[in-house]
Amino acid sequence: MGGESYEEAIAALSKLLSEKADLGSVAAEKIKQITADLEAAGSCDTDNRIKTGFLHFKSEKFEKYPDLYGTLAKGQCPKYLIFACSDSRVCPSHILDFQPGEAFMVRNIASMVPPYDKNKYCGVGAAIEYAVLHLKVENIVVIGHSNCGGIKGLMSIPDDGTTASDFIEQWVSICGSAKTKVKSEKNEMSFAEQCTYCEKEAVNVSLGNLLTYPFVREALVKKTLVLKGAHYDFVNGKFDLWNLNFQISPTLDL
Ligand SMILES: [Zn+2]
Repeated sequence: MGGESYEEAIAALSKLLSEKADLGSVAAEKIKQITADLEAAGSCDTDNRIKTGFLHFKSEKFEKYPDLYGTLAKGQCPKYLIFACSDSRVCPSHILDFQPGEAFMVRNIASMVPPYDKNKYCGVGAAIEYAVLHLKVENIVVIGHSNCGGIKGLMSIPDDGTTASDFIEQWVSICGSAKTKVKSEKNEMSFAEQCTYCEKEAVNVSLGNLLTYPFVREALVKKTLVLKGAHYDFVNGKFDLWNLNFQISPTLDL
């Protein structure tokens, strides 16, 4: 039985039932039971992964470092606001070894920062406002990454702007100017190379968009905040970090 395929097992059952039709109702009951067991096993696997994951964290971290978790229970004082892609391979806590309390995070498709807009992007705006005004983070780091599906999606939007998705293309168009720049300046590159280039250009567009938030500009002028771009290459295991010098001057009260 062990080496038999599913098809062989079903064929054997059909053969048996064709020979002994009176077993049909018994077989139906057993099949129902097998179906229920398989369904339960499927949901159990994913639930167990969550439960064992938390138990591991609890015994290896939470209970081993009571001082850290006791302090964090009273409040947070992260020095970083991190923008990272939702991609499951680029978790900043994993690749940069951030511990709980170190980094306030926004993760979205292609780690993009939209421009200040109270109607369209209030979710991201609220996170930036909270991080800068209330947590007083000292650094905002926007991290792009290799093989980013969101950037590939941006680079694949046809020139006439037609879109096929409900949300994705509209979202990644936030960094549409990065696409335009790459297409005009790096036309000789292959599509894959253009995407890699765009992964970094999109970070720079996001850094520029951060300047449209008045409280970000104010913190930059006061030099209590710095903006950094980064790119994580998970194919070659590399991480680039850079600064953009924006030459911010105080907004004049006229
Ligand atoms: Zn991505």
